[in-house]
Amino acid sequence: MITVDTAIKIVTEAVRPLSPKRVHFEDGLGLCLAQDVQSDIDMPPFNRSAMDGYAVIAEDTANVPVELAVIENIAAGYAPTKRVQRGQASKIMTGAATPDGADAVVKFEETESLEPNSRVKILKTAKKGSNISNRGEDMRVGQTVLFKGTPIRPQEIGILATVGKSDVEVFPAPTVGIISTGDELVDVARKPAHVQIRNSNGYSLSAQARRLGADVELLGIVKDTKKEIFDMIQRGLKKDVLIMSGGVSMGEYDLVGEVMKDINTRIYFEKVALRPGKPVIFGRKDDTLIFALPGNPVASFVTFELFIYPAIRKMMGFTAIHRNMMKASLETEIIVKRKRREYRPALFRTQDNVSYVSPVEWHGSADLLSTTRANSLLIVREDIEKYAVGQLIDVMLLPD
Ligand code: AMP
Ligand code: MG
Repeated sequence: MITVDTAIKIVTEAVRPLSPKRVHFEDGLGLCLAQDVQSDIDMPPFNRSAMDGYAVIAEDTANVPVELAVIENIAAGYAPTKRVQRGQASKIMTGAATPDGADAVVKFEETESLEPNSRVKILKTAKKGSNISNRGEDMRVGQTVLFKGTPIRPQEIGILATVGKSDVEVFPAPTVGIISTGDELVDVARKPAHVQIRNSNGYSLSAQARRLGADVELLGIVKDTKKEIFDMIQRGLKKDVLIMSGGVSMGEYDLVGEVMKDINTRIYFEKVALRPGKPVIFGRKDDTLIFALPGNPVASFVTFELFIYPAIRKMMGFTAIHRNMMKASLETEIIVKRKRREYRPALFRTQDNVSYVSPVEWHGSADLLSTTRANSLLIVREDIEKYAVGQLIDVMLLPD
């Protein structure tokens, strides 16, 4: 049986970023750029005042206070019309172009206006260049300002707007289909009979994928028959990623693996040394990645985080494809019974900049409610027998 680390490696190596597509730049939020982006302008586009104040010749302010004649009032969006000569100043607003001749801006707070508007008293010596942003100091025409692979956040949206890039190539989010298998399953709206349960995995898996930006379709519930599983998989093969839950263990009615093989799915692995979630199948049929996860709700939740999360992130062109990991001080002793990597729902917290973690009470891989009290998964390694209180342990963070 392969280890979790090997399985994750197999998944991430089998996955490629999806073919780029062109979108309106605002729709790129949360996706990664699939192209470099160049600026079509200098920024600032002209020498620009960074303050409301007076544009002056710095040398004129060597001895202060000094009185200067105000020759013009320059607002943002209007070109200056007069050259500033010795003994003169132009009143100027933030964002306006500095006039020829001037080489510094003195802010209002360091001046005193005399005889309404026509003269100003400068109270503080200005250094050459002060409060002036030079043309092109932030970016130049033709400069690559954003690189392929960059995640598009609000600030990147702003830069795309700045350089006029209204359409941009991005790596799209995958389409995802989700199938729940099991004769015992009924949908949310129904009250289960006493041998039935509601299909929760379909919805939790969908939510996990939607959080990553994926375009998810819940394909529904199928009975544990090869025919129903086969028919529904055909629909799922139209998606980039097909996620199935249930029907992958050793039981008599666990037929998902068989059907995957019947249709010639390339199987990369079928079992991982992992708790919860040992029976987990990863395969590829044509262009569709297929993940068949165990039906127990915590197992389905954990195996999504371990294998599908990095797969979707990589398809979307991210370089940071894994959940953030931390080391935290363990608050409860853990005795390891089985030598299999374990991921336990846990509560991670920090206090005075020190991180702590404790497992939440849970009754095993069916106990989904325990995960609602958790914000992380604590990682119990296969090669360690006992973790003492205060020992550092690896934690996978599952932020809100
Ligand atoms: P299986 O992997 O099919 O053997 O199922 C393992 C356990 O998970 C059984 O108790 C199932 O009833 C339960 N289970 C399977 N599918 C789901 C689902 N979609 N939602 C909630 N529980 C499920
Ligand atoms: Mg089942």
